[in-house]
Amino acid sequence: MLGYTHIAEGYLVGVAATSSYKGRLSKSDLRNLIAWGILCGYLPDLDALIYFWKKRSFQIETDFRHHTWPTHTLPVYIILASVIDLWGRWFNSDKVRLAARMLLMGSAVHLLSDTLISGDGIMWKYPLDRKMTVVFNMDAHGLEFQGVVVKHPSFLIELAIIQVALLTWLKRRFSFFRNMNWHWAVLLIGIFNVFYYLFYVLSSNKKGRIANEQDK
Ligand SMILES: [Zn+2]
Repeated sequence: MLGYTHIAEGYLVGVAATSSYKGRLSKSDLRNLIAWGILCGYLPDLDALIYFWKKRSFQIETDFRHHTWPTHTLPVYIILASVIDLWGRWFNSDKVRLAARMLLMGSAVHLLSDTLISGDGIMWKYPLDRKMTVVFNMDAHGLEFQGVVVKHPSFLIELAIIQVALLTWLKRRFSFFRNMNWHWAVLLIGIFNVFYYLFYVLSSNKKGRIANEQDK
């Protein structure tokens, strides 16, 4: 999935994980924990920094195959979350233990999303097996993936996730949206997505097919 979608998911993870801590933690703690949720949702994709460092460049090319790296496998985040949880137990801190759970939730949601839509899939049996699982396989990597995924019907799922996160943020932030009926927002989003699908996905796929046929 795209980085924006992972950020949106991380935000939703942050909101969900902190929702039952409202009276127990201070407002600034809750805000920091939601920011932490966003980071955790994005976390596996920070492996791009390794790629940049190896290439000595900030250009992402088609050889960017980070789903074949350990940074996109669950055991890495189970270990990391366990270490943070132990630290929380040691210092008897509920906050740190919540942060550990959020790290596991955020990264698991990230990996599930990359299993749903990506260029190759996720290695769920790693390190026993390197077989990759994917539902909607774009079979493209790096910048090429970004170009392909926005024209695929499954991108409507990514759009919906981003829209739900945006609505959640607006409703938490502004009283105008807090009092707004969700039905209208969902209807507007639905209409927008149908138009996106009809005019962008279908037309660009048709153009792509014509171009392909001309190539032959
Ligand atoms: Zn990823």
